[in-house]
Amino acid sequence: MSNEGYLPLETGFATLAIHAHQSPDQWNSGAVVTPIFTAATYKLDGSDHSTGFQYGRWGNPTRNNLEGCLAAIENGKHALTFATGCAATWSMLSILKNGDHLLCAFDVYGGTLHLMKMVAEEKGIDLEFFDAGNLNEFEKLLKPNTRMVWFEITTNPMCKVVDAKRLAEISHKRPGVLVVTDNTFMSPYFLKPLNLGVDIVMHSMSKYLNGHSDVIMGLLVLNDDNVHIKLRDIQHHGGAVPGPFDCYLALRGLKTLAIRMKQHMANGIQLANHLKKNPRIEQVFHPGEKLIKIDHHIN
Ligand SMILES: *Cc1c(COP(=O)(O)O)cnc(C)c1O
Repeated sequence: MSNEGYLPLETGFATLAIHAHQSPDQWNSGAVVTPIFTAATYKLDGSDHSTGFQYGRWGNPTRNNLEGCLAAIENGKHALTFATGCAATWSMLSILKNGDHLLCAFDVYGGTLHLMKMVAEEKGIDLEFFDAGNLNEFEKLLKPNTRMVWFEITTNPMCKVVDAKRLAEISHKRPGVLVVTDNTFMSPYFLKPLNLGVDIVMHSMSKYLNGHSDVIMGLLVLNDDNVHIKLRDIQHHGGAVPGPFDCYLALRGLKTLAIRMKQHMANGIQLANHLKKNPRIEQVFHPGEKLIKIDHHIN
């Protein structure tokens, strides 16, 4: 986590989401809000690229601050943003090779399912689906060539909560398996999957993280340096990066993440309880109690 020394070590979640990786000392002006850097190209100072920036696809100060803040709130070492959630998923799948085995929970976002099938067919990846609610059966599906396990820690749209800690433990019995979870529905306010042993966290930032229905963006957060180098390469050369205006809006959205999530929860529980009382409604899907148990788990 990079607080650059200007935040106390024991910074709470809401404060991190507002300030992490956004030191006002970065800019000559002392601006407390990260400016929107529109520059596509940067001055190269001889052989010494002292600012670290060269070209907007490779890096942008607004995007860098956003990625630093996102790494801090997901409790990860590296964060990479993408033009859309699906671009983040596609980039993640890009590290798989022909003949690799990919296990994907069948209860995932429709767009993810479509993309998985498309990429698997194109690249000759052995794609198999599993029930994340039945981990005994899941264990039997792991093979020597299994390279990636993909699931949603809280599924869209059924809101089933998956035991990510156990799923990661089972997967890691085999060497070289990357466990990836889509944490879009929880947001790091409620759950930080890296703390549970998951290797990579993916988000559609188009939902809670930005929170204002005015940005489409994707995210990957991880700790492993080698996988990070591969993904950074894909981000730079694949080029599905978000623009500086969107990065600014997402940074602004993050500042209210904690307070929004609290309110979403209160509203959701109230709505679920109201619907439960209605005799014409057979079943209400709300993670409720399970969600609170998981929260205890990580604290
Ligand atoms: C929306 C969504 C995605 C896709 O993200 P986009 O930003 O729309 O590309 C992936 N996973 C989940 C759970 C989503 O809700």
